[in-house]
Amino acid sequence: MLIAVTGGAGFIGSHIVDALMRQGYSVIVIDNLSSGDIKYLEKWLNDPRLKFVKADLKNCSLENMFRGCEAVLHMAANPDVRLSSVDTETVFQDNIYVTYRVLEASRKAGVKYFIFASSSTVYGDAKIKPTPEDYSPLEPISFYGASKLAGEAMVCSYAYTFGLKALSLRYANIIGSRSRHGVIYDFIVKLKKDPAKLEILGDGTQRKSYLHVSDCVEATLFLLDWLMHENVRYAVFNVGSEDWVTVREIADEVVTAMDLRNVQYVFTGGVNGGRGWKGDVKYMLLSIKKLKALGWQPKLSSRQAVRRAVYELLSETC
Ligand code: NAD
Repeated sequence: MLIAVTGGAGFIGSHIVDALMRQGYSVIVIDNLSSGDIKYLEKWLNDPRLKFVKADLKNCSLENMFRGCEAVLHMAANPDVRLSSVDTETVFQDNIYVTYRVLEASRKAGVKYFIFASSSTVYGDAKIKPTPEDYSPLEPISFYGASKLAGEAMVCSYAYTFGLKALSLRYANIIGSRSRHGVIYDFIVKLKKDPAKLEILGDGTQRKSYLHVSDCVEATLFLLDWLMHENVRYAVFNVGSEDWVTVREIADEVVTAMDLRNVQYVFTGGVNGGRGWKGDVKYMLLSIKKLKALGWQPKLSSRQAVRRAVYELLSETC
């Protein structure tokens, strides 16, 4: 079976490609390498089951690439939530316009199954935590979150109008090897530059849920399999873990793993009550009851995932 992975040279995408290749699928990856890296796919480049196309999803001819694909896993996006408060145009193009193009090409090429990498940010500052999928109103507080909600709406409409079977997966913060954005990577880079001092965006009390990329990939492929076998047109799933940790606790994990002493934490204080930046959701915990009811649950808690990710990223950034 042939599966297309957009953004398949990125952090989550490349781990998904690894898993699909190990399971015997043929895979086509379309990525412009804007934040991804071809080295993540290196071990498959001589395997005839993998085809890598370096192309920009904003303007490449996609329909032919998708022809013969059973499923499209749409992972490509600009994942930088902070950027979306200063550069809406890039986020609109890479997240909203690209999702439209990928959907349009999928329907024209006769793709049967579609998975969209959405995000917990669609909930904004949800009043209920853990937040279930049917929480409303969905009021994203960042343009990134808005772009994901717009993406979900398009995916849903394509499922009902054009016959794709589709899922929107609302990922929590995904962490682990190959991640080159997010709080852990940020702390490691800063501490390598100056081991005496760590600037922490916000007031450090931001508390969120983290999922290790190995669990994220497993959940995504579990749900793809479920979609293929269930009589369902479109569904939304939260994909996260069941605990949450503060930014300060993450700083402590990084400092301990780097074996540093007396690091001075410098809190920027942040905006709107201690958030890291405009649009940063301060408290995020997803309910994963719906996913667990299907028989899947994460192997690692947020705390365990953070610890593992810190060691993985330290070994990659030395
Ligand atoms: P990433 O930046 O590592 O991966 C995105 C990939 O898409 C990159 O390889 C990049 O080069 C590619 N890409 C971006 N724009 C493109 C374009 N116009 N044409 C072709 N390729 C393009 O990010 P990630 O963390 O792996 O995120 C993957 C997906 O999961 C994204 O949709 C992101 O919004 C979503 N997501 C991520 C997280 C997280 O914590 N990492 C959480 C929720 C949702």
